[in-house]
Order: sequence, then structure tokens, then C-alpha cells
Amino acid sequence: MQKQRALLIIKPDGVQRGLIGKIISRFEQVGLTIIGLKFMWATREQITAHYPETDAWFKKVGERTLTNYAKKSLDAKKVFNTDDPVMIGKTVKSWLVNYMQESPLFFAVVESYDVIEIVRKLSGNTIPLLAAPGTIRGDFSHDTIDLANEQSRPLRNIIHASDTVEDGEKEVNLWFKPEELFAYSRADEKFMF
Ligand code: ATP
Ligand code: MG
Repeated sequence: MQKQRALLIIKPDGVQRGLIGKIISRFEQVGLTIIGLKFMWATREQITAHYPETDAWFKKVGERTLTNYAKKSLDAKKVFNTDDPVMIGKTVKSWLVNYMQESPLFFAVVESYDVIEIVRKLSGNTIPLLAAPGTIRGDFSHDTIDLANEQSRPLRNIIHASDTVEDGEKEVNLWFKPEELFAYSRADEKFMF
């Protein structure tokens, strides 16, 4: 089996609330190896490149709104002037660019076996209202789709975590130079598996 790498970003709400240490310790305590860390302001161009630009991603994001609106009998057209999920996804991406420039971002690259599944599990559901207690989003946030969309902003959900092995590689390469990553084994690794 091969180790994988995932990118974590503590988003501006996590940074502004002073949660960097608490959040990073959750990844350390399950035994993931931190191989890179960085704190910096991101540019519009970097954020635009970070979030996908495909219709499939826009559609997934837009459908998150539509599913939630249907449950609450709300009309997406009132906020977005459309009920096309791709168009809604594009609007959310434009909001993300502003949100991610509210403060410096804290970046971490973590490495382990099945690391993608692990970082997604620890992060919890994208929608904080639905994120289980014990997860980062469930424990530190409670935002909802309808409140966020009504206020023309993305969900404030504390953390970004890569969601596929391929995205993990792409995102790590986007934010880190090879010389900023430090491969090594944790002293406790042999007791973990
Ligand atoms: P991330 O990529 O940040 O780890 P994710 O993979 O769980 O989150 P994505 O579908 O990639 O979710 O969406 C990226 C981010 O965009 C979300 O974390 C959230 O902040 C915001 N977002 C996604 N869908 C919506 C939506 N319908 N309305 C408002 N914000 C949204
Ligand atoms: Mg994602």
C-alpha cells in the first residue's frame, strides 16, 4: 500500500477564531504525519485555481443548495435568479474567492495510508448543521446553506480537506514547493498499525 497526501486549509473563520492549534492537533492525534506547514495570504488567482472549474463541480455545489432549498420549500431563484445548479455553483465559487481572502490561511500537508478518507472523516459534513459532533465542522461551526446563501456567502465551515487522491496531489503542488515538504516517519508509526 502507498501513502497518500492531503492538503488541509484552515479557512478564515478558523484562523480568526484562534482554532489553528486545536484543529491541527486533531490530525496529529490520530497519527497522521505533518510534512508541510504554511501561513499566508492567498491571492484571487490561487483561490480560483484551487477550487475546480468544471461543470461537474459547479453542479455538485449548486445541487447542495437545491437539495436543501427543496427540503425547506425555498425558491433558489429568489437568491440566485436561476435554478440551474451549474450557475449556482459558479456564484458560490465567486463568494469563496472573497471568503478565502478575509484573513491569512493556515495550510498543512498530511501524509498517511488512506489519508483522504481520514481527513474527510475528521472534517465532517460540508454543511456544518449536518456535521456530526466529534468532527471539526460539527464541533466548531453550525452554519446552514439557507443562511449562507441568503447572506450571499459560502458556508463558513472552518476547514478545507482534499477530497480525492488526485485532488490531494494537485492541491499540494499548487500551494507547496517540493522543498517545502519534509518526508519522514513518526517515531510512533510502528506502534500504530
Ligand atoms: P472543501 O473543498 O472546502 O473541503 P467540501 O469538499 O466539503 O469542502 P465542496 O463541494 O468542495 O465541499 O465546496 C467547497 C466549499 O464551498 C465548501 O467547503 C463550502 O465552504 C462552500 N460551499 C459548497 N457548496 C455550497 C453551497 N451550496 N452554498 C454555500 N457554500 C457552499
Ligand atoms: Mg471540496
